[in-house]
Amino acid sequence: MENKSNIHDFDFNLICEYFSSTERQGPGSRETTLRALDMIGPIESGATIADLGCGTGSSALILAEQTEAQIVAVDIFDTFLQIVRQKAHNKGLDISTLNSPMESLPFAREELDLIWCEGAIYNIGIDRALTLWRDLLKDGGHIAFTDASWLRDERAQEIEEFWQEAYPQMGSIESNLKLIESKGYRIKGWFVLPDECWTTNFYEPQRAAQKIFLDKHKGNPTAEMLVENQRYEAEMYAQYGCSYGYVFYIVQRM
Ligand code: SAH
Repeated sequence: MENKSNIHDFDFNLICEYFSSTERQGPGSRETTLRALDMIGPIESGATIADLGCGTGSSALILAEQTEAQIVAVDIFDTFLQIVRQKAHNKGLDISTLNSPMESLPFAREELDLIWCEGAIYNIGIDRALTLWRDLLKDGGHIAFTDASWLRDERAQEIEEFWQEAYPQMGSIESNLKLIESKGYRIKGWFVLPDECWTTNFYEPQRAAQKIFLDKHKGNPTAEMLVENQRYEAEMYAQYGCSYGYVFYIVQRM
């Protein structure tokens, strides 16, 4: 409980190194990415898709494999983008990468058919993201994003405080759906990510990574705190995961 640091307080290079070793940097799965893609409908071969906050490419690789579209994987960490390029190369997939903050993207007005954003929209919040990205989308273009959302009105104080610190703007599904519509989008669909998206796919792989990371940075208090922070987050999910979850929202610009 004494550790209340936010992930953003840590040294960027350490975070980057910690997360470079895991398949994904946020909760999710191949199945949920495919399910969301399916809700959008057919994607034309000339379409352009931007995957914002792509990390090491968990969703960008699937989008490249499943569509004939041009995929641009966007992140602010070059190390992650390098991994995306390497993975794409290994699989024979065509993905271009772009180092840019999601809040000031260099795309032209109405350039994009689809914006993908898994586990990363919290960096700027849904409200701001939906405002900023609308102009970049073609009329009828889509945004598919996941975000941590409250699933219950009643919740323990400990978890309320945890999220108040980590992501104070976090909404409920209902409030998010309202917000989406108020920003000029139609809801195409939404669903809650199953438990294994957090446990099997996100927290469990981190355990092995933590060991290696701690061995390498023995005695470094920042590294130790980062790991402790991630462990605390996993513990919070184990204890209170029924109160909140990641929700996939699939929306269309009107
Ligand atoms: N989509 C990936 C990664 C999610 S983690 C997955 O689901 O596995 C969040 C990602 O957002 C990280 O890769 C981080 O580097 C990136 N990020 C953080 N702030 C950002 C910003 N302002 N603009 C773009 N990317 C950002």
